[in-house]
Amino acid sequence: MSATSTRTAAEYEARLQQYVFERSEEGRAVRVGEKEVSEQAAIIARYGDLFTREQLEALRDEESAAAGDDRERLYRLRKACESGVVSSEIAAQEDALENAILDARVTFRGEEMPLRTASARLAVLDSYADREELGQLERTASAAFNPQRRDLLEARERLDADVSGEPDPVARNEEEKAISLRELERALVAAADATSGAYERLRDTWFERLLGPEREELPSNAHVHYLRRVSPLESTYTKERGVDVCLATTLALGFDMTAIPNIRLDVEDRPQKNPRACVIASNPPEVVHLITRAQGGLSDYQAFLHEAGHALHYAGVDPRLPYTFRAISRDHALTEIYSYIFEAVTREPGWHAQYFGLSDAQAEENAQVTVFLEALLYRRYAAKLRYELGFWSSFAAEKGTSPRDYATLLTEATGIRYDERNYLADMDAGFYSADYLRAWIRSAQLRAYLVREVGENWWRSPQTGDLLRELFREGTKPTSEEIASRLGFEPLDTAPLVADLSVS
Ligand SMILES: [Zn+2]
Repeated sequence: MSATSTRTAAEYEARLQQYVFERSEEGRAVRVGEKEVSEQAAIIARYGDLFTREQLEALRDEESAAAGDDRERLYRLRKACESGVVSSEIAAQEDALENAILDARVTFRGEEMPLRTASARLAVLDSYADREELGQLERTASAAFNPQRRDLLEARERLDADVSGEPDPVARNEEEKAISLRELERALVAAADATSGAYERLRDTWFERLLGPEREELPSNAHVHYLRRVSPLESTYTKERGVDVCLATTLALGFDMTAIPNIRLDVEDRPQKNPRACVIASNPPEVVHLITRAQGGLSDYQAFLHEAGHALHYAGVDPRLPYTFRAISRDHALTEIYSYIFEAVTREPGWHAQYFGLSDAQAEENAQVTVFLEALLYRRYAAKLRYELGFWSSFAAEKGTSPRDYATLLTEATGIRYDERNYLADMDAGFYSADYLRAWIRSAQLRAYLVREVGENWWRSPQTGDLLRELFREGTKPTSEEIASRLGFEPLDTAPLVADLSVS
């Protein structure tokens, strides 16, 4: 082993920053439809020297000699190196799957469309029967990729186990997130159980209003996009006003997003643009992309505000922090707190009254649908975490061949019929579901804190912006659980969440 072939941690961090920038920009170009072919593998090959076992050992050595914040910084650099070693071995396989999905087409009523357009179309079809039919076509076309998805999961899992030295995927994720996934799951189930009655009442009301009397006892998940868009209220929440209303909403909190050059807005409509809004923080705080594709409906507003929370977090990090604490986290649980708190503004009746000229009664009613959607998604994710814990606990034996209780758990939790063939497509790597769920608990705590400190008008007060700005400055360094203690809560205290989901 030659000493010249590896970098010190400081050199490594600088080169990693360039690498992340290039990969993020490539991912962005494909995601927004500017490029038709994903070429991540070429970038990974160019930075191959970053991701060698030799480099991993060198970082591990520096880490074991470090203490305090420096040790944490080195831990995250080592984890980035581990994940790069894994990615470099499966990038070509990942690109192939991504490109095959981009090429896939479905034919609906004589019209051929990309698979991704089909899922976007589900949100805007007004006929229940049409959504059922297109949903069935979409699920069948997507399920055709399950063998490749499974191969990829298995390859990734084998490599993750190897580079980390931890063969158990649940234990490996618990170590990295520094929490117990099973304790988290227990707290989540209790919160879901405590709000079941409220959820059922909301569901009966809003299924009737949004899906109509022709719906089945258990409507399929083909209708979820349509529900989330609250399509029947489209004339209120128009495509055209979305960006302006959301910018005014963030301005009221003290953030003028049009005056923050680091945040690059992409709100254009392109056929191959992924309809799911996202933020790509290529180099925080300097380069942060906020990407949305408006389709009209309340979900546009919610998605924009959600992503605005991420964008303001990344664009608001202290530029003097080391790169690692500006851009790399152990998981996604921290930044999702900030996206959730911005999205939570849409659950305030006053927001609906102020921006859409609604009567108080109408504003209450429209805010109630956002509570219903929130409860639906919360229950879906809590069920997903339970399924994923089972899936990964048995992965060594089953190799991901069985959908297990995916459909049963999700269907029981939501009252929406899930198709077991979705069991692989509906799973993000690394227990992302657990990160979302921690953010659900934490953002409810944060809202309770803001109500106490700022008052009921927290959602339109620049004082909220000041408090958030202080948190954003800390970058990606704190854990979600550390934020709980700043707010004066225990990490698994779900009382504020239960209160938020019990409004009915
Ligand atoms: Zn998010």
